[in-house]
Amino acid sequence: TKKVLSGIQPSGSLTLGNYIGAIKNFVKLQKEYECYFMVVDLHAITVAQDPAALRENSESVAALYLAAGIDPSIAHVYMQSHVPQHAELGWILTTLTAMGELERMTQFKDKSAGKESVGAGLFVYPSLMAADILVYNADLVPVGEDQKQHLELTRDLAGRFNHRFGEFFTIPEPYIPEVGARIMSLDDGTKKMSKSDPNPGSRINLLDPPDVIRKKISRATTDSGREVVFDQAGKPEISNLMSIYAECSGMSLQQIADQYEGQMYGGFKKELAEVVVALLEPIQQRYQDIRSSGMLSNILAQGAENARMNAARTLEGVKERMGFLPAR
Ligand code: ATP
Ligand code: MG
Repeated sequence: TKKVLSGIQPSGSLTLGNYIGAIKNFVKLQKEYECYFMVVDLHAITVAQDPAALRENSESVAALYLAAGIDPSIAHVYMQSHVPQHAELGWILTTLTAMGELERMTQFKDKSAGKESVGAGLFVYPSLMAADILVYNADLVPVGEDQKQHLELTRDLAGRFNHRFGEFFTIPEPYIPEVGARIMSLDDGTKKMSKSDPNPGSRINLLDPPDVIRKKISRATTDSGREVVFDQAGKPEISNLMSIYAECSGMSLQQIADQYEGQMYGGFKKELAEVVVALLEPIQQRYQDIRSSGMLSNILAQGAENARMNAARTLEGVKERMGFLPAR
């Protein structure tokens, strides 16, 4: 069976963008493939993280994976830092990566823009992400549109290694959902929704209480028009809200446009909020149960053990091919 790998950074509380663009697909994929779903804590520290917040966010992301329907008895669920081979292969791949390749990455440009000092980790992030994927020889990588460029680099690095040291790595394929690949921010329809955005009003967090969700959606930016129609270029904000509606309700964009024909934005937003609340309430309930059950650390330990076994085998092959002396 094919292997699938993906991860989410514990860099904040998860958003509806993370759910629609990532977790929702993970839940489907786990039934068909051998899945590795990590919490990528080593990536989260590429921007400053407070230790207490990192700990809380790490547990929270792992618990939300489970609450949203990832089943640790069929998928590997674990912390990236519990599998040291990620960092080890990350270093090796960094040595195969050109500076120019990293300089072109739009995520680096976005996240470093306007900062006085930028950590080198943020710059080499894509080589670590390549290692995450290649260390299991994953075939498929479900990611949102925003990670596509990093995946391209991963494919290049795998090919480069194979060319230099002999066929070894599988060249991974992206798996990008058609709708929902890019949920946009609530305050700016041209910027993606992000858990690390400084404005909390720009996103819906999966753990937001119903009233907060209602308030955020009612305050979401819209255009000065009045028609609820999907028009990505002309009405990015309304189009985004319609995409969210579609993803949370299972309705098509056309059905939504028909249903709200001739109605004002206010009524549409009110009902959208209820659709989102209805989706998130059961997830939040399960999340509370999981957090209070104390079962998380065992599940993560089990997941990491399986992952380590597979990753260690890859590292052995990599090092042997590159000419490292065996340790024994
Ligand atoms: P950060 O702001 O810290 O980068 P993030 O919200 O971008 O956080 P990531 O951990 O970088 O989240 O990404 C986790 C997964 O969620 C990736 O697969 C990414 O493609 C997906 N994702 C992130 N934001 C969105 C979004 N707005 N719409 C759809 N998918 C998204
Ligand atoms: Mg991101």
